[in-house]
Amino acid sequence: MADELNDSLSAPGVAALTSSAYRQALEVIASVEPRIAAATRQELADQRGSLKLIASENYASPAVLLTMGTWFSDKYAEGTVGHRFYAGCQNVDTVEALAAEHARELFGAPYAYVQPHSGIDANLVAFWSILAHHVETPYLEKHQARNVNELTEADWEELRHELGNQRLLGMSLDAGGHLTHGFRPNISGKMFHQQQYGTDPETGLLDYDAVRAKAREFRPLVIVAGYSAYPRRVDFAKMREIADEVGATLMVDMAHFAGLVAGKVFTGDEDPVPHAHVTTTTTHKSLRGPRGGMVLAQEEFAADVDRGCPMVLGGPLSHVMAAKAVALAEARRPEFQVYAQSVADNAKSLAEGFLKRDARLVTGGTDNHLVLLDVTSFGLTGRQAESALLDAGVVTNRNSVPADPNGAWYTSGVRLGTPALTTRGFGAAEFDMVAELIVDVLANTSPVGDSKAKYVLADGVADRTKAASAELLDKHPLYPGLDLA
Ligand code: PLP
Repeated sequence: MADELNDSLSAPGVAALTSSAYRQALEVIASVEPRIAAATRQELADQRGSLKLIASENYASPAVLLTMGTWFSDKYAEGTVGHRFYAGCQNVDTVEALAAEHARELFGAPYAYVQPHSGIDANLVAFWSILAHHVETPYLEKHQARNVNELTEADWEELRHELGNQRLLGMSLDAGGHLTHGFRPNISGKMFHQQQYGTDPETGLLDYDAVRAKAREFRPLVIVAGYSAYPRRVDFAKMREIADEVGATLMVDMAHFAGLVAGKVFTGDEDPVPHAHVTTTTTHKSLRGPRGGMVLAQEEFAADVDRGCPMVLGGPLSHVMAAKAVALAEARRPEFQVYAQSVADNAKSLAEGFLKRDARLVTGGTDNHLVLLDVTSFGLTGRQAESALLDAGVVTNRNSVPADPNGAWYTSGVRLGTPALTTRGFGAAEFDMVAELIVDVLANTSPVGDSKAKYVLADGVADRTKAASAELLDKHPLYPGLDLA
């Protein structure tokens, strides 16, 4: 099974074609700027040679990667399919319409907008559309305008005041939410009056009654659900019930777990798309597509989401929309469901590997694609743990834990995800070995004095970890058959 997953990135015959395509492409690049060609080769070597456990990263297929390197990059296409501000967009229309169709079919969404350049951009488009949806109609009527473009400067002044008085309730950063879910210093915390919900201090789990109580008291226009570092599933039906009770719009940011939704691991109440008014995502994390974003919405929000470009976004990246179409077509294949289930099974195995070695996990485990390791039991900060692991060739990222005593910079946790190594074909037994390697590195790392950054890794540990990782990585090569020599 594991190798089938890896092979799905490079079907028979594709590896040879990909090798010759990239060899020639790198020669062309080297003829202009050889240092870029060299860095590109080096990046592949580095990615092949490290244990990538960053929960938000993955490896896109050669088909997805190659689709991004074309002349679609040269085309301006502001507007929407069939309604462009530029001439000559007939092929971009084909691409955008196909990507949107795949997205609608894959997620069962009434409407899909595939232009956002990233997850943050998708969230900004969603905020804009929710504000426009709620605030616009009375204003348009009051000012006898047919759309926002007909409002005067004075109208906008008044509208700005109204927009500034809207409220957003989102998950706090240290509970696992994202910066754009209302974190005060972020634009989302400035354009809205914000309040945040957290997790239960005892269990680390979302407490729906507490969210409901906050929503009743605060009465937000928008409730944002979704997360970057929460290792559990969310009941989106319940979140919608809370939103309905207070008359709020439910926006779900599924950037991290879109692959588990696409792969039908999260269904029913755990599938956000039928429950949320607006769902946003990235396309490059567990969904395994190109770097980018998307907005899915119920029909009533479609017209406002469509105004994302040029109201909020710059011109669409047509070459990336093409790659999104390819990635979404891949995600509609049955193999993707096998992949997604393996991502979740592997995360369980990683978590169990830690627990049986007495490591501490936020919420005591996982039922999605990530685990959040609390490294204070090793006497370390997240920053020290992340650095020591990197010395040993294990790529992770430090992350806050709930009520983090070390703050958002040094942190007390390390976030680990399974999407990337699962794409390489790692299975449950190998993730147990990954847990063993990580525990070995952390148990042999000591802080220096009171420093939250300095540490010493005991002699020989980095070398033995790299040797053990190399064995695992060699068993599951990245892009097997892709040879740049
Ligand atoms: N939303 C969530 C939940 C995320 O975790 C992230 C990134 O990590 C984003 C949005 C932002 O995505 P991007 O980096 O593509 O803007």
